[in-house]
Amino acid sequence: MPEGLITVAYIVSAALFILSLRGLSNQETARRGNMFGVAGMIIAVVATVLGGQVDSMGTLILVMLFGGGIGLVVARRVAMTAMPELVAILHSFVGAAAVLVGIVSHLESGSLTGTELLIHKIEIVLGVFIGAYTFTGSVIAFLKLRGSLGGKPLTLPLRHQLNILLVLVSVLLGTWFVNGAPEEQIMYLLIIIAISGLLGIHMIMAIGGADMPVVVSMLNSYSGWAAASAGFMLSNDLLIITGALVGSSGAILSYIMCRGMHRSFISVIAGGFGVAEGTVAAVSKEDEGKEAQSISYEETADILRGAKQVIVVPGYGMAVAQAQHIVHEITENLQKRNIIIKFAIHPVAGRLPGHMNVLLAEANLPYDIIFEMDEINSVFNATDVVLVIGANDIVNPGALDDESSPIYGMPVLEVWDAKSVIVLKRSMATGYSGVGNPLYFRDNTWMLFGDAKESLNKVAALLN
Ligand code: NDP
Repeated sequence: MPEGLITVAYIVSAALFILSLRGLSNQETARRGNMFGVAGMIIAVVATVLGGQVDSMGTLILVMLFGGGIGLVVARRVAMTAMPELVAILHSFVGAAAVLVGIVSHLESGSLTGTELLIHKIEIVLGVFIGAYTFTGSVIAFLKLRGSLGGKPLTLPLRHQLNILLVLVSVLLGTWFVNGAPEEQIMYLLIIIAISGLLGIHMIMAIGGADMPVVVSMLNSYSGWAAASAGFMLSNDLLIITGALVGSSGAILSYIMCRGMHRSFISVIAGGFGVAEGTVAAVSKEDEGKEAQSISYEETADILRGAKQVIVVPGYGMAVAQAQHIVHEITENLQKRNIIIKFAIHPVAGRLPGHMNVLLAEANLPYDIIFEMDEINSVFNATDVVLVIGANDIVNPGALDDESSPIYGMPVLEVWDAKSVIVLKRSMATGYSGVGNPLYFRDNTWMLFGDAKESLNKVAALLN
């Protein structure tokens, strides 16, 4: 393929990736955005394969079929609830690739001299450092999201000092790598990889609880920078552009999420926040001795029938129960009765940015009844019933009024302003951040205990 044509293909791919990101920013255009991304990637792969740098086409095709086959099977099988884990482990592949590209680039840099060689060595150090950090950090994030490692942060004494020390040692080794004797350089490079990998493990182990979404998006950003550095090492312009797009969009998303959780970016990266989910947290002094009020399916159906406006707040439990389809059925039932029904989406509901939107779209719920937190928080006080389906942290009033709460300052959906709140969950257990929820003890809150899908099936049967 002539060089000019490859350049054109790369420019078209880059434009398609930008259009893809633009499309993905809105759920109505997300499908189209995804198609732009797929088209851009196909063009990029074809142009790279035909770019004249491939020695063994047979091996390449074999490896691509093998990797593509695994990707296809995994993507088809993955449950929506396991999507964050998949995203995390995919980031780790980008990190590992950057490390391998760095090692190979170093071994093949014999023809370079002078400033060119110096710049190339700096690219290699940066590339393997970011890559190894992204690799091990993403593996830890994967294990944490999967539940193989607890959500509780690991807070070693002097951990910040330890992190700074590891970075400083890496910088020192980096200068030795750049200036050292050729036979010693590979050793310095491997030690940098080991230290950076250790840093990735330590830093992500120290992050827990409700900061996990930011970590996933931060690792997304790092994987972009790792890809961009691989692009520099391979002198591939498209990889640099794509990496920079992923790196900067991940960083912007992390910033937006931090703002949404009322936390500083630095405090999130430094970690040490949150406890394990699924435990029953200590009840606050004010709620001591209070019993949460439970409600039956019949009473729930009666309250819904008598309402003029209902708001549904979906959370992680809706994803676990796979209750989105029955939620759609109940929505249609209430709409037929001329009851206004709306959905309130918290920016970090579920386990992935946009998790709830994807589930609701899967159940074909119309977009025009789905509202973001900022749009709907003022509507709760004009609402008769709020159905909280498997949500916990995102409706915790302690985030607004309890300074001692670990999630204090995080904006939440102020559901308690409605006349009645019905919470569907299986027990009094905590959610992701492991914090007790005073909402359950409010006078206008009722608990409908049980698996959300089973409970809603019973309520739907009574509504028919
Ligand atoms: P939470 O994790 O706070 O609460 C979910 C609740 O769902 C649990 O308390 C659980 O209670 C209940 N539940 C689980 N399974 C079922 C079921 N089958 N039927 C009914 N209920 C069920 O979820 P939220 O969505 O409220 O908040 C999200 C949390 O996750 C936040 O802390 C956020 O920071 C964090 N997070 C978000 C990510 C994102 O990007 N969105 C990524 C990673 C973490 P019980 O066991 O009693 O049933």
